[in-house]
Amino acid sequence: MDRYLVKPGKPLNLNLWDPNDKSLFPISKKEGKKKLRELNQELEALQELLFAEGKHKVLIVLQAMDTGGKDGTIRHVFEGVNPQGVKVAGFKVPTSKELAHDYLWRVHKHTPGKGEIVIFNRSHYEDVLVVRVHNLVPEEIWSRRYEHIRAFEKTLAEEGTTILKFYLHINREEQKKRLQARLDEPHKNWKFSQGDLAERALWDQYQAAYEDALIKTSTDNAPWYIIPANRKWYRNLVVSTIIINKLKSLKMAYPEPEEGLEGIVIE
Ligand code: ADP
Repeated sequence: MDRYLVKPGKPLNLNLWDPNDKSLFPISKKEGKKKLRELNQELEALQELLFAEGKHKVLIVLQAMDTGGKDGTIRHVFEGVNPQGVKVAGFKVPTSKELAHDYLWRVHKHTPGKGEIVIFNRSHYEDVLVVRVHNLVPEEIWSRRYEHIRAFEKTLAEEGTTILKFYLHINREEQKKRLQARLDEPHKNWKFSQGDLAERALWDQYQAAYEDALIKTSTDNAPWYIIPANRKWYRNLVVSTIIINKLKSLKMAYPEPEEGLEGIVIE
């Protein structure tokens, strides 16, 4: 899995990362979908263990360009997992109340408690992405945020949160196809807004902002993974596998049963 890991401090050029790569699972789409069903069961069991043990907190951050597949990833990777143990927090344009606070305020209160998995659908990274690209605050303000974010995530990690961050990497051609499909297929029309075209025109600026964010905030405690995401089935397999491997490495165990349970028969 390390091939998709952003190594802290190394230069990064997203153009050199192949969004069509499928080298980790060189299989067909059909086989990939079957494999994901197996992984879904494995994740379901691990999530139950995480909840039962009640010790670890898991935070998963999802970021992507528009149409990159954040919603689909959540739907498919967590299919079959008990909804009581997983929460999704989405971050849209901040409200006036949110804007009256520092940018981490709205985020911190959604971080996971013990036994919980929380998925961030967008996150505090918007504050160095859309905010930077659209000059919503001056550079002297956003440029300090990488350091805040590293410190924030370090705090969470040192207080017992396991953090995994995924950038779902598609290319411009794939976005074109996906946006066109939103126009051509009536049941997808609701997903299209004309604002998407203005954002698409800023592709290069967004990619540059992503490169900076990924390099500056991929740390041992809160690593970024760049997931090849042109193929949805492959993207799901890689994200699922990274989460499963991480959960396994936590060496979780069911709590000891109460004493004196042997021999109890329910009347
Ligand atoms: P999504 O694309 O995640 O399904 P929307 O289409 O409602 O959901 O998009 C949410 C919008 O909110 C995005 O355009 C995103 O850039 C914007 N947004 C999120 N966080 C911030 C922020 N901190 N400042 C400004 N805009 C933000």
